[in-house]
Amino acid sequence: MNGASFIKTKVLRLRLKDKHAKFLSDLAREVNFVWNYCNELQITMFNRERRFLSGYDFAEFTRGATKEGLQLHSQTVQAIAEEYATRRRQFGKVRLSWRKSTGSRRSLHWIPFKKTAIQAAHGQVKFAGQWLSLWDSYGLDSYPIRAGNFCEDARGRWYLNACVAVPVTEPADRSSARGDVGIDLGLKDLVATSDGEKLSAPQFYRGLESKLAVAQRAGKKNRVRAIHAKIANRRKDSLQQFSTRLVREYGTIFVGNVSASALVKTSQAKSVLDAGWSAFRTMLRYKCDFAGATFAEVNEAFSTQTCSACDSRGGPKGIAGLGIRAWTCGECGTVHDRNVNAAKNILAAGRRRLAEGIPAL
Ligand SMILES: [Zn+2]
Repeated sequence: MNGASFIKTKVLRLRLKDKHAKFLSDLAREVNFVWNYCNELQITMFNRERRFLSGYDFAEFTRGATKEGLQLHSQTVQAIAEEYATRRRQFGKVRLSWRKSTGSRRSLHWIPFKKTAIQAAHGQVKFAGQWLSLWDSYGLDSYPIRAGNFCEDARGRWYLNACVAVPVTEPADRSSARGDVGIDLGLKDLVATSDGEKLSAPQFYRGLESKLAVAQRAGKKNRVRAIHAKIANRRKDSLQQFSTRLVREYGTIFVGNVSASALVKTSQAKSVLDAGWSAFRTMLRYKCDFAGATFAEVNEAFSTQTCSACDSRGGPKGIAGLGIRAWTCGECGTVHDRNVNAAKNILAAGRRRLAEGIPAL
């Protein structure tokens, strides 16, 4: 471990003690108020002048807000306005959805902040004049907090996501030649690698399917929500572990640019898949960045249909071919696992791209 050391930004996620839920929910309602105010302002401005407001523009209008009875720190109000402006730009819309504080379709609570609004000491954080206890598994007060947010999950538990600056020491052996790998993202095998490893989706449901069915029949909404949250947590944990291991083992990682719309029909299934895939890509990207490994997304057109041994295109196609797990190439007779074959093609495409696009180091 005698490599170069440098500073990286990392997001630490810590669970807050439940007793703070009321305090945070009250603040979150104010956040929604500010958010909706920004939305209203943007709508008016667009109707009147066809103009879009930046985070800086909003500051002009929200300056007095903390004097008007809001508990939120003025920097937090500013953080909300900036987030609003960023997301509006990102989605290319005139306006965004309203944040709802009540009712069955209310938004999950969320409170962004800037570094001046938060302080960490002796295993607690101070926010909006209040010391909050949390399960501090990282030793938060040893990191400078740059920004972040508090957010609630579907079960009403609160988490602190803190962006912190961490000194990273790059291991000296990182540069030594490590292999490369192709990654195929899919439905049943959530992840398959060109070396034949897999992370399967059904394992997240193991033991919970029957419980879910029972709760659904009994109409126990909270229970159903809790089980869904548990499945989501399992999925996230597995993706975290899998991505960590991939980055440890490989120096270069290529991932296909799959989008769910090509694979499933219902919009809910699409959004779940897209969320999982994009979360996994994000994890890989920042972990590679962290470890000094190379990450690249490659166009995965025909990766499923093409035989990775002989390049002929006799494999399963489209939605109709989704059920096919294994197939034999009609040209060369190689027996393929559908997803591992796709991952091999992604690896080949990535290598071609590197050879063409980026000069050798
Ligand atoms: Zn073949």
